[in-house]
Amino acid sequence: MFRILLITLIMCSSACAPRVEVAVSLPTATALRVLQATSVPTFDRRMQTVDTPTATTPVCEPTSLKRPSHDISAQVDYAARVVDVTQVTRFPNLTESVLDAMVFDVEPNRFPGAFTLQELLVDGTAPASYELLDRRLTIGLDARALRVGCAATIQMRFQLALPRIADGWAGRTGYFGYTERQVNLGRWLPVVAHRQGADWIVHQTTPIGEQSVAGVADWQVTVSVVNAPEDTLIAAPGRSSRTTVDNERFTLLSARDFALSISPQFAKQAIVTRSGVTVELFTLGDTQVQTDRGLADGAEHALEVAARSLEMFGEVFGSYLYQSLVVVEGDFADGMEFSGLIFVGGAWFRTWNGTPQSYLTLITVHEVAHQWWYASVGSDQAMSPWLDEALATYSEYVFFQEAYPQLDDWWWQFRVYSYVPAGFTGLEPVNSTVYQFVDVRAYINAVYLRGAQMLEQLRRDMGTEAFFDWLAAYAMAGRETVVSPDLLWQLLTPQQQLLTDATRLAYFGS
Ligand SMILES: [Zn+2]
Repeated sequence: MFRILLITLIMCSSACAPRVEVAVSLPTATALRVLQATSVPTFDRRMQTVDTPTATTPVCEPTSLKRPSHDISAQVDYAARVVDVTQVTRFPNLTESVLDAMVFDVEPNRFPGAFTLQELLVDGTAPASYELLDRRLTIGLDARALRVGCAATIQMRFQLALPRIADGWAGRTGYFGYTERQVNLGRWLPVVAHRQGADWIVHQTTPIGEQSVAGVADWQVTVSVVNAPEDTLIAAPGRSSRTTVDNERFTLLSARDFALSISPQFAKQAIVTRSGVTVELFTLGDTQVQTDRGLADGAEHALEVAARSLEMFGEVFGSYLYQSLVVVEGDFADGMEFSGLIFVGGAWFRTWNGTPQSYLTLITVHEVAHQWWYASVGSDQAMSPWLDEALATYSEYVFFQEAYPQLDDWWWQFRVYSYVPAGFTGLEPVNSTVYQFVDVRAYINAVYLRGAQMLEQLRRDMGTEAFFDWLAAYAMAGRETVVSPDLLWQLLTPQQQLLTDATRLAYFGS
């Protein structure tokens, strides 16, 4: 819940002027509403025929775009922790109806005072109206309704004032913010909201889990970093090229987001997997730890585990989407997945015990698995969080079974049973939404851990070979799209449906 203070500014009393309503929300994200009113003729009225937009008769130059494309120019003032961004988005109407509005999900606006919209243009001129409320930016197109098969160009200029990343659990959203050692830009750019039927999906923010639903888009991102020490590095996914001394340009195609991290302390190392994917690791210089067996480097371990799991999941679930994977030691709690880039929390490096039996291994593999169960196969993270989280958690086990078969039991004991020693009865169903929880541990226990146990039981019901064939078919069918759980279940044969009925009933609420 948040309080909204509405201040209405009437610029003039006639209908010719724009009406501007500025909604200031305290203490959460900013809200803004701008309505451009059009004049109403009162005499000499003559009705004229107009083109009625229909779903089948585009009057524009049809676009060949298969998905949105974003061209971003960002200047990062490293010392001031401020980012000035110009974003040009080409959006094709691939639906079957004329769109009189479109919606962006503006993730940075969930942070108070972080996002300031300075300019918004549609095809070069001001839109009929726009409204930014929490993370939902609705742009009214009115007479310029976007016809089927046509594309609109939306240009935004905005400034980001990065929040300081808090310590401990409060810093779990540290993928967007800064510390003394790092600037992180994850979920920093508006993305076209996912459209489901006639609805644009922008879910309400909650502290539990994630709430974004994003389709794939193509990204061209030019980053210049000013007021930073000499050796500052940018960790970002995709192909990179230096356009000038200060500009680095990244290209990432078919991605749900574009995340990056910047630090003058970054140490970088890389290896190439058997299938030719470059895995880059950026750490903060604190990965050497004293273990029972002497000094060990968590960076080497994380890089090896990331490359090995990426290779393995590619063989089991289908090829990886990109040419490179970037692994970043995050100066914040826990890990986080993005398209082609993952964060692994620094605490997992600092507390590494020098063996595979560690959160450094688990979280690295978990975030790599999200390259399939998020980056490739997208889903509704608020309403069906189990769909990516249970699969990412179970994928850890799949990796352990092959890489460290002697740790099969350890994985279940350490990762699952130690958190629910009394068993799984009484937990919320696996297919709960994020809104059903107030406690993050209860959420993880029900969705991640009980979800992994459900997948293990499904594997027993169907047999290992059929189970992995089923997951590979799901990964293929859902690749580069946004899916619902129905897809997973529809890929079962009638006989497999029968075999798994009891398991689904036991783990799902209804
Ligand atoms: Zn996860």
